[in-house]
Amino acid sequence: MKVLEKSGRTDKCATEKDPRWKAIVARDQQSDAKFYYSVLTTGVYCRPLCASRPARPENVRFHNTCAEAESAGFRSCKRCKPDQPPLIEQHATKIAEVCRVIESSDQVPSLEALAQSAGLSTYHFHRVFKAATGLTPKAYAVAHRAKRVQSELGRSRTVTEAIFESGFNSSGRFYEKSDEVLGMTPSDFRAGGANTHIHFAVGECSLGAILVAKSERGVCAILMGDDPEELVRDLQDRFQRANLVGADEGFEQLVAKVVGFVEAPAVGLDLPLDIRGTAFQQRVWQALRKIPVGSTASYTDIANAIDSPNAVRAVASACAANALAVAIPCHRVVRNDGGISGYRWGVERKRILLEREADA
Ligand SMILES: [Zn+2]
Repeated sequence: MKVLEKSGRTDKCATEKDPRWKAIVARDQQSDAKFYYSVLTTGVYCRPLCASRPARPENVRFHNTCAEAESAGFRSCKRCKPDQPPLIEQHATKIAEVCRVIESSDQVPSLEALAQSAGLSTYHFHRVFKAATGLTPKAYAVAHRAKRVQSELGRSRTVTEAIFESGFNSSGRFYEKSDEVLGMTPSDFRAGGANTHIHFAVGECSLGAILVAKSERGVCAILMGDDPEELVRDLQDRFQRANLVGADEGFEQLVAKVVGFVEAPAVGLDLPLDIRGTAFQQRVWQALRKIPVGSTASYTDIANAIDSPNAVRAVASACAANALAVAIPCHRVVRNDGGISGYRWGVERKRILLEREADA
């Protein structure tokens, strides 16, 4: 043992006892940029996730930073490039560049072309892109096309949901970064329903103008506001590729039914709904539909209910993207302190709805 110490080698057992050794053996992705290790026999230092052959524990030393490893005389590994930004950030940068390519192309570039521009194999690129955005490159391209004609609805929102769906939480630097660079609105992801017919009519209810729209599958929009024209524009934005058809007389009954429901949600809406959204939005909306009439839940409650406790912001975005007022009761979501927060169709409408339901 004395000999080893003299030669500057770390005791084998001490290395193996260090929890960081486990991370190296497991090539733990989570440990990237958290520490580095050097190998005495090669003079090289690595990220914990380096794919090179594992060194013998007695030759391994740990370093908190690259600078520390370098000042101890080690040089960076050519394979895992520990002196470069963490891999997840490198990927985020590459993926962000690819997103810009997709956005500026009139035709969707082929997967091969995109992978090539990112310098990755097709297979690896597809996986990295999906991990970073929550969407396949193709879905991203489709979503982006919808964005070009997107209204104010999406302007302030981000790709948050997609990222949460892919399993990231808000703690990572990656998240911060992609949030700003990917800049895609979840509302864009709503399938536009090409070549489908959507019938709609605007009516009046006690809360103002109300637009009811129905696809072949069911009621796909219940929008409320002061200005009927604005509601129609909102509908157009939400179903960009659908064929909007003004309603006939038979439709009046449907509108009356929906209005009756909005006036008294406790009676329930006995109509099929055509709910369109991302998988994450759908989960949020399902959770909202479980809030009983007369009760409220906070954004945090909903995030917990869908087992995504860190996704509070994304939950709020999903609430704001809801196209089915009252039927998906996003008005029953309030701030953590019980205060009334924003409502897609106006805070005053939200207040009235909640008051009515509390009295019911
Ligand atoms: Zn390495």
